[in-house]
Parts: sequence; structure tokens; C-alpha cells
Amino acid sequence: MPDTHPLLEEFRDQIQRCSRCGFCQAHCPVFGGTQRPALNARGKMLLLKEVLAGRLELDQELIETIFQCTTCASCAQNCPSGVEVPEIIKAARREMVGLGTCHPAFVGMDQVLDQHHNIYAEEEPEDFDRERGGQAEVVYFMGCVGQYREEEATEAALDLLDHLEVDYALIDEVCCSGVLEDVGFALKPHLAQKNIETILATGAKTLVTSCPYCLRTFQGRDEYLPLKQAGLEIMHLSQFLARQDLGLSTDLVVAYHDPCDLGRHAGIYDEPRQTIKTVAPNFVELADNRENALCCGAGGGVRGAFAQNSLAMARRRLEQMETSGAQVLLTECNSCVHNLSNAKLRAQKFEVMTTPQFLMELIEESS
Ligand code: SF4
Ligand code: SF4
Repeated sequence: MPDTHPLLEEFRDQIQRCSRCGFCQAHCPVFGGTQRPALNARGKMLLLKEVLAGRLELDQELIETIFQCTTCASCAQNCPSGVEVPEIIKAARREMVGLGTCHPAFVGMDQVLDQHHNIYAEEEPEDFDRERGGQAEVVYFMGCVGQYREEEATEAALDLLDHLEVDYALIDEVCCSGVLEDVGFALKPHLAQKNIETILATGAKTLVTSCPYCLRTFQGRDEYLPLKQAGLEIMHLSQFLARQDLGLSTDLVVAYHDPCDLGRHAGIYDEPRQTIKTVAPNFVELADNRENALCCGAGGGVRGAFAQNSLAMARRRLEQMETSGAQVLLTECNSCVHNLSNAKLRAQKFEVMTTPQFLMELIEESS
């Protein structure tokens, strides 16, 4: 039989390895939000086995199943057979884009990036009353969500860097484009090249980003190798803050939501907690935390394509927040804070914000 799905074929062994044990079900946020077994990792692997056997087409019928996955990696974390579900899902989506069966929400997404250099097709970013360019020790990268949707979180992060007297530069950044791979497209080398040039032009020794997905892209993708080759240290803002003496303290009861891209995908669990616990000793863990943290439902394009289900997933996470008794829920991802804030009910009296927002509130209260 001709090889009609070359990208998926690369994962044939892994797809076959799924034993249907169902251990992934309890951890899948999509199943948790929808209660539909066809949408958990096992259901997806069963369908893809049929595709590889030539008994099923990757057509419109499969859009809802294949595109409804946050790529949170919770299933992979708990899979006894080592099935790397998010990578398989990304390959299946790429095949579907090639076959013309992309989810309608993402049709032309790669052209949007070619034309606008950001995922929202926005013309101009917020300027945050700060110059771009110049030379500095640190270069700070906001990412598309930080630059175009969660401006308050970005403002707080920049104010915090100012408060800490960090010598940093902002650049005319373009989308890192790593996120394109989550929805069936390829990273854009020309956008990577533009970012590399503007980042290196600052002469910085350290690249700090508040976006966990940008971090993964800068650290893990070959297109961004010149950054490492130039000797640049690449880190998440939470790692940078863990090295700072903040001199702050509060009695508030605080909990932390591990973003999937920062936790399971980048292995960063301790530094965010180190900063929070130093400032807020009354820290409590949510029921599912660290490697087993429940996804907020925003990733993998799910918020854009399945908004109601995405909110249902966020609400499940917020129920864990309610049970914890904490007054403030902190996270280190602009996408997570966006989805969790949108999902919070008026009756839920706790606050949701990024750690830099929380720290800036404490600084402003104490001054
Ligand atoms: S845990 Fe792994 S092997 Fe078991 S059903 Fe899920 S994907 Fe398949
Ligand atoms: S990556 Fe997350 S959302 Fe996707 S199937 Fe696995 S557990 Fe479910």
C-alpha cells in the first residue's frame, strides 16, 4: 500500500504500542471537560491505528477528535507504554493541513504569520511606554499573548524588572512561530532569523521570556541554535526571578498552577515555587500539581477552536483552587492566566494573576 501519511508513519511504532490500558483517561483534561472517551489519548490512538491501517480517512470527520487536544502531555506522563501522544497529534494535524482537512479556526494561520508576524493578525503591538532596541545585559521577550492580549501581565513584568533595576532591552519581536506546530503547520525560519538578529543585536548575555512556549522554542528548536551558539543563557522569567532578592512578604494564602509548557514540557517546577514560598510562606499546593498538574485547557489551539470546552477545562482547575482554600492563584504563563481568568465565576472570590503581577501588587502596597 502506498505510504499516504508519511508524517504519521514516523510514529507507527508508538501508535501500535498503545495497549488501550486507559491509564491516560483520568489525566486528560479534554476527557475531564467533555466526558467523551473518544477524545482522550486512547480514543485518538485507536482512530490513528485505523488511519494507518487504511480503514479510516483523515477527513473532516476526524477534525473534532484530532484538533481537540491541548498537547498538555499529561497522558504521556502517565502512559506505561511510553506513547508520546502530543507529538503524534501534531503529526496527524500536519497531515490534515496537507490534506485540506485543517480545523477551520487555523486555515491560513501560517499566512497570518507571514503577513503580520503575530498570531492575532494585529498591526501594531502595545509600546508599554518603553523604547525598543539598544544594548543591555538582559533581553526580555514578551511573546504574542504578552504583547497583544495580556498587556497587564506584561506591564507588571516590566515594572518588576524596573523595580529590580535590571539592565534589560526590549526588541521589535516577531512570533517565535513554534506554536504553529501545535496546529499543523511548520515553524517559520525567516521569523526565527529575524528574532535571532534583533536579540543578538542587543549584546545581551541572557534572554528572558515570560512565555513558556517561546522558551521551549528558543531552547529546543534547531532554527534558534544560533542563540545558544552565541553563548546566550536562555531562561524563563520565573527562573530569573528566583535569583533575585525581592525583600517581600505576605500572609496571604497562595497556590500555584503549573503551566503544561513550563512544567511537563520544560521541567520547570521548583523555581516558581521558590519565589512564591519565600514571599508567601502560607503556600498551598493544588490537588494535582507539578508533573500531574491539571491543564487549564488553553493550549494546542483548543481555546481558539473549542472555546466552550476550553473554559470547561479551566473550570475544573478552578474547582481545585476552591478546594485548596487559597486566596490567590498564581501562574507563570500568560495563556493560562488568560483562560483561568476568563473561566472564573463571580462567586469565586479568589484572585488569579501571574507571579509578577502579584509581586508588583505587594511592592505597590508596601511603598
Ligand atoms: S496510557 Fe498510553 S497505552 Fe494506555 S491507553 Fe493511554 S496512550 Fe494507550
Ligand atoms: S495531550 Fe493532554 S489533552 Fe491531549 S490527549 Fe493527552 S492528556 Fe488529553
